[in-house]
Amino acid sequence: MENKTPFYDLIEEGLRNADSGLGDRSTYVGASDIGQCLKKSYLSKFEKEDFDFEQLLIFERGHVAEGIFIKGLENSPKKDAFSYRKQVEFVGQEKWSFLRTHLDLHVNFPHEDVAVEGKTFRTELPDGKPRLSWLYQNHIQMWLASESTGRKTRGIIAAIDLNTAKRHEFPVTFSEILLHQAQERALKLWNAMQTRTEPEGEVSDLCAYCPYKNSCSTLLKNGESLPEEVDAMLTQLKELSKAEKEAKVLRENIKAFMDAANIKRGIGTKHNAILMKSAGREKVSIETLKAQFPEVANVVIGEGEGSVRLKIV
Ligand code: SF4
Repeated sequence: MENKTPFYDLIEEGLRNADSGLGDRSTYVGASDIGQCLKKSYLSKFEKEDFDFEQLLIFERGHVAEGIFIKGLENSPKKDAFSYRKQVEFVGQEKWSFLRTHLDLHVNFPHEDVAVEGKTFRTELPDGKPRLSWLYQNHIQMWLASESTGRKTRGIIAAIDLNTAKRHEFPVTFSEILLHQAQERALKLWNAMQTRTEPEGEVSDLCAYCPYKNSCSTLLKNGESLPEEVDAMLTQLKELSKAEKEAKVLRENIKAFMDAANIKRGIGTKHNAILMKSAGREKVSIETLKAQFPEVANVVIGEGEGSVRLKIV
C-alpha cells in the first residue's frame, strides 16, 4: 500500500509515540521535576502534553549529548581507571520513596562516584552559570545515589551547545542548604499531586518554551515584571548593543577603504577581510504597478505580516 504520510509527519508521530522510559510520571516526583516551575511539573503529570516538533527535538538533543559523552567514556585512553552505568534509576527511601532520579551517567572511581547530569543549551546561560533547577536536580541525584550505594558521590553538570560545540563543565559542590531546598520543593510537589491542587506558577525565561504558556494564569498575571533571568539577559543585551554599533561603524569604514582602494581581499596581521559582492535582488515598484496595472496590483498586493521589534530603553 502506498504510504502518503510526509516524511516528517512520520518522524514526528514516531518521536511522540516513543517510550520515554520514565513510566507513569503521575506516580512519583522525578529529580528534574523539582527545579522547574512546579505548576508546569504538576500539569505535565496529569495533562497530556502536546509537544510540537521543536520540543520533541529538544528532548532528542539531550539523548544525542548523552551518546556523545558515552562514546567519549567508552573510548577514553583512561577507561581502566573507572567504570560507568547509564540511565541509572535511584529511588528514595522510606518517607522519600515518592522520589526518583534517572541519572544520565553514574561514573565509578575506586574511591568515589560521580553523578553526571548532561544538559544542552542553545542560548547563553544567564550569567554563564548553571541554572538553579539543574543544581537542585544534581543534588537530589548525589543524595539518592549515595544513600543507595553508601559511597561518596560528587556531582557534575555537563552542558553543551550541540551547534557550536561551546561547553561548560560545572563541578557541583554539595550543599546541605540546596539539598534541603530541593527536598522541600519535592514535598510541595508531591503534596500537590496527592491533593490534586495545582501549585502556583513560577515565572522565568523558560516560560517562553512552556507548553502551558498560552493558558497559564500566573504568566498572564505577571505580564509586566520581567523574571530575574530575563532581566539579566536584558542587561547583557544592552551592553552588547553598544559593541554592535561600534562593530557596524568599523565594518563600514573597512568596507569603504577596500572599495576605494579596489582591494578584494585585504590581508591583516591577525585576520583577513574579504569583500563579497552579491547581485541585487529583483524588486517590484508598488507605485508603478498601481499606476500602470491597477487590476494586477489589486490582485497581488496584500497586507504584509507585521514584525515585532525589541527596543531597549
Ligand atoms: S508558563 Fe511559566 S509559570 Fe506558567 S506553567 Fe509554564 S513555566 Fe510555569
